[in-house]
Amino acid sequence: MAQEYDAVIIGAGHNSLACAVHLAKRGWKVGVFEQAVEPGGAVRTGEYTLPGFRHDWAAMNLSLFAGSGFMKEYGTALAGQGLDFVPVDKPFTSAFPDGRWLGVSTDAAATVAGIRAFSERDAETWQKLAKAFPGEAAHIFALLGAPMRKRAISSFLWRLWRERGLGGALDMGRFLAMSPRAWLEETFESPHLRATLGAWGMHLDFAPDIAGGALFPYLEAMAGSAFGMVLGKGGADVMIRALVAELEARGGSVTCGAPVAKVVHRGRKARGVELANGTQVTARRAVIANVAPAALVRLTEGTRNAAFDERMARFAHAPGTMMLHLAMDGLPDWAAGEALKSYAYVHLAPSLDQMARTYAQAKAGLLPDEPVIVVGQPTVFDPSRAPEGKHVLWMQVRMVPGAIQGDAAGQITAADWVDAAEPMAARALDILERYAPGSRAKILGQRIVSPPDLEADNPNLVGGDQVCGSHHLSQHFLFRPARGYSDGSTPIEALHLTGAAVWPGGGTGAGPGFLLAQRLAGK
Ligand SMILES: Cc1cc2nc3c(=O)[nH]c(=O)nc-3n(C[C@H](O)[C@H](O)[C@H](O)COP(=O)(O)OP(=O)(O)OC[C@H]3O[C@@H](n4cnc5c(N)ncnc54)[C@H](O)[C@@H]3O)c2cc1C
Repeated sequence: MAQEYDAVIIGAGHNSLACAVHLAKRGWKVGVFEQAVEPGGAVRTGEYTLPGFRHDWAAMNLSLFAGSGFMKEYGTALAGQGLDFVPVDKPFTSAFPDGRWLGVSTDAAATVAGIRAFSERDAETWQKLAKAFPGEAAHIFALLGAPMRKRAISSFLWRLWRERGLGGALDMGRFLAMSPRAWLEETFESPHLRATLGAWGMHLDFAPDIAGGALFPYLEAMAGSAFGMVLGKGGADVMIRALVAELEARGGSVTCGAPVAKVVHRGRKARGVELANGTQVTARRAVIANVAPAALVRLTEGTRNAAFDERMARFAHAPGTMMLHLAMDGLPDWAAGEALKSYAYVHLAPSLDQMARTYAQAKAGLLPDEPVIVVGQPTVFDPSRAPEGKHVLWMQVRMVPGAIQGDAAGQITAADWVDAAEPMAARALDILERYAPGSRAKILGQRIVSPPDLEADNPNLVGGDQVCGSHHLSQHFLFRPARGYSDGSTPIEALHLTGAAVWPGGGTGAGPGFLLAQRLAGK
C-alpha cells in the first residue's frame, strides 16, 4: 500500500531533519527517507577504529548549529530530547615549522599576549577588531541567516546605510568581496597570524587568493575568541539523535536503508517519490530533496527543465577531503609546546603561500606535496569519547583531488584512491610526526577515509567535497545553487531542494533546511 505524507524528504542530513521538525510543528505529516543505514549524513559518530573510541565521521565542530536560528527556536525542545554540548574555550591554534605557535581562545588577554609575541601592532589591531565585532556581527549574521530575497537584501542594505552611511556600507561590500590574503595582509603584519587565520578559509574552498573568502577567517577568529567552539557531548551524533527524537515526538518518521530512486511527478507537479525497492510514497504538499544538484537532475529525469537541469548539472564542487581517524594511546607531543594539547583544532598550515599552492595542486588533480592538516583533539574536552587516558584524533587532510591526475611530490604513482589512500595517509602522518615527534608510535588503530569513501557513504559529498559545492562568490548568496533558486524552489511545482548546496550553504548551521521550512509553512 502506498505511504502518504504531507512532505516527503529525501535524505536525513541535519538540514532535512531541521526542516522536518519545523514542518511537523506546523502540523505537517513528514516522512524522511535515507539511503544509509543511519541518519545524519555528514554528522555522525561511531567506533570506526577500535571499540570504545568514538569518532566523528565528518563534522566535529557544532558551533554553527549551537548558534543557529533553528536552535533559538528549538534549543529547549532538543535539550529535552538529549541534546548536550561540550563548550570549548580554546578553539584553535597553529603550529609552525620554526617551533613557534599561536592560539586563539576565549581568554582575551591570553590571545592578545600570544599575538603580541609576534607583533605589537597586530595585538592592537586584534583588540580593535574584537571590540567592533558585536556591531559587525549583528549585520553579518543577519545577512547570513536571511533568505536571499529582494526584501531581506534591501533591509540589510538599508540598516547598514542608516547606521554607517554610504561609505560604511561600501566598506562592508568591499570586505565581503575580499580574498583572505587581501584582508589578512591589509590588516595584520605577522605572517604567523595571517596563516593562523587563513587556515580557516581552507575549511571551505577559500584558498588565500579567492575573492569573497575573507569573511571566514574573520568570523572564525572573532567568534572563536568571543564564544569558543562547541562539540557534541559524546559525539556530534547527539544532535542527530535529538532531531530524530523531536521529529518522531511530533508525529514524523525517518526510514533508513531507503534510497530514493526518483521523484514521481504528474504534469509539472511533484507528487511523491519512488524508492529503489519500488515502494511508492505520496507527498500531498511537497517533495524536498537534500541531494547534490546533479543528483536532482537524475531523480527528475523526464521533467524537461533544460535550463535548470543544465545549471544543476554544471554546479561546481570544491576539491575533496581525506579523513584520518586515529585511536591514540595519548595526545601528540607537540614540539611547539605542551600548551597545544589544550586546543580543539591544531592547524598545520604554515603560510598563505603554502595554502595557495595546495589548493592549486588539488584543483589540478594533483595530490598536494604538503597538504594542510587540521588535527582535531575532541577528547581534550570530551574524554567520554575514548577509554580512560586514551584519545581520538580527527585529522582532516585539506585539500585533495576527487580524481587523481598525479602527485605534486612525484612520489605516489597510484592513479586512483584505492591505491593512493595509504601513501597519502602516510604523507599526512609524516607531517604530523614533523610537528609532534613520536605521534605514530601512539596510534592504536586507524581508519583512512578517502574522497571516494566519503562519497560512497553519502552521495552529496561529490568527489569528497565536504560542503556540497564550491562557495565561491559565483555560487554563493543569490547564486546558490543558481540565480532564482536560492530559496530552494525548483521549476517543478511542489519540488524543493535543500541542504548544503542551497543558500546559506555548507556547515552545521541548519540554515537551508530551516529557511525552507519557514517558507513552506508561512514562517
Ligand atoms: C569530513 C567533513 C568534515 C566536516 N566538518 C565540519 C565541521 O566540523 N563543522 C561544520 O559545521 N561542518 C562541517 N562539515 C560540513 C557539514 O557537515 C555539512 O555541510 C552538513 O552536515 C551537510 O548537511 P546536509 O543536511 O545539507 O546534508 P548531508 O549531511 O550531506 O546529508 C544528506 C543525506 O542525504 C542522503 N541522500 C542523498 N541522496 C539520497 C537519496 N537518493 N535517497 C536517500 N537518501 C539520500 C545522504 O545519504 C545523506 O545522509 C564537514 C563535512 C565533512 C564531509
